[in-house]
Amino acid sequence: GHYTKRDIMRLVEEEDVEFIRLQFTDLFGNLKNAAVTASQLEKALDNRYVFDGSCVEGFLHDNDMDMFLCPDLDTLAIFPWRPQQGKVARLICDIQKPDGTPYEGDSRYILKKVLKEAEALGYRFDVGPECEFFLFHTDDDGNPTVFSHEKAGYFDVSPIDQGENVRRDIILTLEEMGFEVESSYHEVASAQHEIDFRYDEALLSADNIMTFKLAVKTIAKRFGMHATFMPKPQAGVNGSSMHTNISLIRDGKNIFADENDPYGLSKEAYWFIGGLLKHAKGLSAITNPLVNSYKRIFPAQTGAGFTAPSYISWSPVNRSQMIRIPAQKSESTRIELRSPDPSCNPYLALAVSLAAGLDGIRNQIEPPKPVNQDVRKMTDEERKCLGIEPLPRNLAEAILGLEQDKLVKEVLGEELCKGYIAAKKKEWEDYCSQVSQWEIAQYLYRF
Ligand code: GLN
Ligand code: MG
Ligand code: MG
Ligand code: MG
Repeated sequence: GHYTKRDIMRLVEEEDVEFIRLQFTDLFGNLKNAAVTASQLEKALDNRYVFDGSCVEGFLHDNDMDMFLCPDLDTLAIFPWRPQQGKVARLICDIQKPDGTPYEGDSRYILKKVLKEAEALGYRFDVGPECEFFLFHTDDDGNPTVFSHEKAGYFDVSPIDQGENVRRDIILTLEEMGFEVESSYHEVASAQHEIDFRYDEALLSADNIMTFKLAVKTIAKRFGMHATFMPKPQAGVNGSSMHTNISLIRDGKNIFADENDPYGLSKEAYWFIGGLLKHAKGLSAITNPLVNSYKRIFPAQTGAGFTAPSYISWSPVNRSQMIRIPAQKSESTRIELRSPDPSCNPYLALAVSLAAGLDGIRNQIEPPKPVNQDVRKMTDEERKCLGIEPLPRNLAEAILGLEQDKLVKEVLGEELCKGYIAAKKKEWEDYCSQVSQWEIAQYLYRF
């Protein structure tokens, strides 16, 4: 780490920080925090901020236990959207049990565990996420809607693109917080946007995704808009993805690259792809955690233009696949995992994805041949011939996939996994017992 406790105390003093938010992420990807004033900071830095773990969703234990927040000093950042006198800063925290050991249900800890395993092999993962989101109007009561008058599409320009000022403020805010923003534009669907920030080490990227989502929502609200990372807020148009670009570094070198290979990929890259494909069904409940996630990746003919993946396949060129290899090669060689959506808990999503890839490397799992055409336009027979299976088509299938994947369950840990599966089953059952607008429209007049 580069900050010491003394540095933090000094920075807080110098920058006139009055409140420090101690943040963590719950099992389902919700950002949580408690604030302490500057006068209480020293205590908090000594890992003595205690909270009631039994009130946090997905935190399970038999007897309710006091939990402790342990700030990661390197995550200090000031919120540019809060007052600039008596500023508000945040520290991202790990969670400890009363005996000082890490809480096994802390998703940040679970990612760290996988990264430690990689480190033991001499590996470092760099991850670059691409988060898409919608900017919708709020109604007269301030509640979010799924409406926007905007009609812009991919790469459109203002005044058709009405999001430019919101995106501008989001980007300036992110830059103030230390992000290097690489690119931003209007996405395919009306009111849909993408802002890409620079890749970083996996843990930092997971932290960054949480900060990114908070900044996007906060700035959008200033404009009276609601920003949503819900995977498929509107039927019939593109959903929102969180493409995850992964490269593997050893001794400072990108070892996914091999100039002598026709696709520019090393054997580690092929095995990593093999691992991701092998565990695709097991990853899904984590990388695509909502009932709604499956509306985005459902393999419907009508959805064939939305470029979200529906099948377990890979390709160096075609975008309809779960895994694609972007064109930039050598040091920029990376594997783009296209299935995740931005409603996931990024710590867990990265933990299970990287673990699946590592499993591929460890066991030298060869991927099947690449599929260099649109998998969704093939017939069932053609897909069957090539052994291409669909991704889980709904949350129930995804839960089953998770239950049957020993590796993914091991990464999550038994206790957390049990709680996660129980919660997701409940979500699915609750959904299945609803009567939807679609059913009313289709059936009420006829029967
Ligand atoms: N929105 C698409 C998806 O859901 C991705 C489209 C893109 O990035 N060009 O996967
Ligand atoms: Mg993109
Ligand atoms: Mg995109
Ligand atoms: Mg992409």
